[in-house]
Amino acid sequence: MDLLIGTSNAGKLREIAEMLGDLPIRVLSLKDVGLDHMDVAEDADSLEANARLKVEAYARASGLPTLADDTGLFVDALDGRPGIYPARYGGAELTMPQRRALLLSELSGVPVERRTARFIAVIALRTPQGEVQFATGVCEGRIATEEMHGESGFGYDPVFMPAGHDISFSQMGETEKNKISHRGLSVRAALPILQSWIERGL
Ligand code: IMP
Repeated sequence: MDLLIGTSNAGKLREIAEMLGDLPIRVLSLKDVGLDHMDVAEDADSLEANARLKVEAYARASGLPTLADDTGLFVDALDGRPGIYPARYGGAELTMPQRRALLLSELSGVPVERRTARFIAVIALRTPQGEVQFATGVCEGRIATEEMHGESGFGYDPVFMPAGHDISFSQMGETEKNKISHRGLSVRAALPILQSWIERGL
């Protein structure tokens, strides 16, 4: 079965493709199907609604079984910010390092025990016939007091320490991150749906 991964984020694409590696699925990127320049307005008011906007747009344009993901980062001491639009936190013009610096500065002076946060990933899956299903993954953790860079990771990974670990997502390596991360959990929750699509011969 062909499955289009509707994301322009190279980090997400790599993680999702690795986790689907054991299934009889040919993973296609937006670039593979010539849709890498397609912009989808993400202006809904929930992760689920934004994931649906993305999956509908890419599935309709490609005609393929499609997966899209929308991720939020919720920091308790900041009343849930960055929230459902972490890619726009601080303004559209900021770079990712500037967004991480802003997050650390907004939390400056906040003690470790109050730096709790969670990533939530919602995957939307759409068949060419238009059925849409969702799968969610939540990863609890906390925001580090400084950047903790490692060999891998993207986005907020250098400042997010998953619960029960004293290292950041960036310092874990992708396979370890996938075992516990919001995206890893959401992809695992999506596997039975994909399995049923394979059985139906989509
Ligand atoms: P979106 O879901 O594509 O709208 O992107 C959400 C934002 O969160 C982007 O700025 C990503 O870099 C960031 N992000 C999404 N997933 C992760 C992750 O697993 N680790 C770190 N940052 C992430």
